[in-house]
Amino acid sequence: MPFPLDREKTQKLTEELENVIAAHLAWFKQFSRLLACGNGIDAFEAAEDAYLKSPFGQWYYRDSPHPLASHEPFQAMAEIQQALHECARQAVETIRAGRRPSAELHDNCVDLALKLNNKLRHLQLDIIGDLLATDPLTGCYSRRGMINRLQAEQERAQRIERPCSLCLVDFDHFKRINDSYGHPAGDAVLKQGMRFIGGVLRKYDIVFRYGGEEFLLCLPGTPADDAAQVIERIRSGLEKMPIMLPGRHKLHVTASFGIAEVMLTKPVEDSIASADQALLRAKNAGRNRVEIWRGT
Ligand code: GH3
Ligand code: MG
Ligand code: MG
Repeated sequence: MPFPLDREKTQKLTEELENVIAAHLAWFKQFSRLLACGNGIDAFEAAEDAYLKSPFGQWYYRDSPHPLASHEPFQAMAEIQQALHECARQAVETIRAGRRPSAELHDNCVDLALKLNNKLRHLQLDIIGDLLATDPLTGCYSRRGMINRLQAEQERAQRIERPCSLCLVDFDHFKRINDSYGHPAGDAVLKQGMRFIGGVLRKYDIVFRYGGEEFLLCLPGTPADDAAQVIERIRSGLEKMPIMLPGRHKLHVTASFGIAEVMLTKPVEDSIASADQALLRAKNAGRNRVEIWRGT
């Protein structure tokens, strides 16, 4: 992914998926009992819109926009489930007409039911994988898997011949915030600050919590000068944004930013080090600034 979901919603989704998987398997058990033993034909829903009424259908086609609607593996399940219900409908009609379904129809039903089960399970594993790879406080990706992900972006940049930029973000005088207002206030700054930054970035940009109050942004398809424009918008937006603290107090914060383009022929760690050099320059020049590393 990343799923554009917050942690609570993501957790709820994994539970929903567990229930949908169990309900789908219960449906399949009932259906295979009908195929094998001929039991339960009257109770079996085989109308053309049965796919909407099944437990899967009710979860998948619910009225409110589905949180996974833009996720490709989620979209792919519609076709499989509709094909499954079409095969099931044909099988039930055949049995109602006093005949046995063909072996081919039986196999199609079983294959499609198992395929749907696999897709659901994979989707659930994807979501759980994302949960494990994200930081509970901010929802950003954690450092686990960060280098692999950056290497993949480096390879993609090479393939599509478009530069990818990195930006290290470090909140200014963050220790002071903790010392003056308490640790929960510091947490609120990180949470709200990163929500703001995530809202300015595009959906294919990636945000990692690099450590403490430092974050690494990866902007695919973006030369350093273009990245600097986006980051400048972030910098100036952040300094204007009131952070709501526990107890209705408000606070203004700033951050410093160091940008470096990903070097295609060197380990990605070197590019992170370059962004770090630029960040250091921003700090030394007085903080609340954006600096670009230009290879010197
Ligand atoms: P600078 O402007 O030079 O970056 O100074 P700074 O105070 O931001 O940097 P410093 O490295 O001295 O302090 C960072 C502080 O961030 C220290 C650490 O306790 C705090 N911190 C790290 N992670 C968290 C967190 O998850 N929550 C809170 N509240 N504080 C954190
Ligand atoms: Mg720091
Ligand atoms: Mg700091």
